[in-house]
Amino acid sequence: MKNFKNLLENSNLKTTPQRLAILKELDTKGHASIEEIYETIKEMFPSISLATIYKNINALKEEGIISEICLHQKPKFEIDKSPHAHFICKKCGNVEDIPFNDIIKNDFNQKYPDSQKELYIYGICKKCKKV
Ligand SMILES: [Zn+2]
Ligand SMILES: [Zn+2]
Repeated sequence: MKNFKNLLENSNLKTTPQRLAILKELDTKGHASIEEIYETIKEMFPSISLATIYKNINALKEEGIISEICLHQKPKFEIDKSPHAHFICKKCGNVEDIPFNDIIKNDFNQKYPDSQKELYIYGICKKCKKV
């Protein structure tokens, strides 16, 4: 379990139970949309609104604590990790992480040090192929 409290304390954001819950949820799910986060969080905080989740997600994004994955449909979010590629299933929208190997990573860092390292691969995931 990562120390999300530390992560928030080192940012410009206040540490709130809601923000901690959002980060925990993203950590568990890996990638999640605002609606998916809302479904879980509202069980813990029944008075929370979708708009509040939205605001918190945006704040966390601006602080660089989480990042947005641009999908065809709904954007999903994840806690910022080392650069990696995403495999996105065209059928079910499932998102999987594909780690960059060191050669790609070093090459990227040398040539484009300040770039956002995003790579998307689209296809059909194993689960959907079986059906
Ligand atoms: Zn799929
Ligand atoms: Zn990812």
